[in-house]
Amino acid sequence: MPPTLTRALALALLAGHASMAYAQVPGCDVCATWNADQAPFRIFGNTYYVGVKGLSSVLLTSPQGHVLIDGGLPESAPKIIANIGALGFRIEDVKLILNSHGHIDHAGGLAELQRRSDAMVAASPSAALDLASGEVGPDDPQYHALPKYPPIKAMRLARDGGQFKVGPIELTAHATPGHTPGGLSWTWQSCDGPRCLNMVYADSLNAVSRPGFKFSASSEYPNALDDFRHSFETLEKLPCDVLISAHPEASQLWERLEASATGDSAAFVDPQACRAYVAAARTLLDARLEQER
Ligand SMILES: [Zn+2]
Repeated sequence: MPPTLTRALALALLAGHASMAYAQVPGCDVCATWNADQAPFRIFGNTYYVGVKGLSSVLLTSPQGHVLIDGGLPESAPKIIANIGALGFRIEDVKLILNSHGHIDHAGGLAELQRRSDAMVAASPSAALDLASGEVGPDDPQYHALPKYPPIKAMRLARDGGQFKVGPIELTAHATPGHTPGGLSWTWQSCDGPRCLNMVYADSLNAVSRPGFKFSASSEYPNALDDFRHSFETLEKLPCDVLISAHPEASQLWERLEASATGDSAAFVDPQACRAYVAAARTLLDARLEQER
């Protein structure tokens, strides 16, 4: 089975559906599906969804400038910029762009988004190497299984516990490796009047790889299993009122949006969401380890 199909199936499993379509990025069976148009919307307070249908990008706004998390595919960047504009904000006011991990479906659009905003990009030390070359390293489970993407230049390194500020917006980086050696999740608070909620942008936690790679025994990534287990514990313990995952369907974003549109004002709020997200990832990892035996 081609690696991209393996990856697509695993993602579809985690997402609970199996849609595949014509690929724009060579070798990416699901990219066109992921890159479908999605109208932007408010999630809570100053937190907005501005991504394409299948790949999250999140905008946090403030009068002193905005923060953007993840940039989708290279071909997602113009759609993200248009979505920011449709909400009445400007890409030029984005001061900081944060990354979850260095795969093309979350980092591919960053170069264009940085070019249009002149924002600083922050990524983990491992992901920064990916972003600087447009290609993941040999310790990545999907090394040589993903297409290259436009590299970016100026970056700040984000380490576990690192804090990032733009005006009143404060975010914390949480190392959540396993899917990649440098995966990061991000937390912040958003307020609607006096009510403030704990927001989590969760990195991908699905165990997918190139053919032949074993999470249980990899000389290129020997800590893969320990990393996953540490990441599961990290995400389970986070204060988590609203979860947005790097692939939106993995945190039921579309079901929540529909419920919100039909009058459920608390549809995006679910303090169990992080634990449910981890439970699904544990199941996928257990199934993978069973296969590797
Ligand atoms: Zn990935």
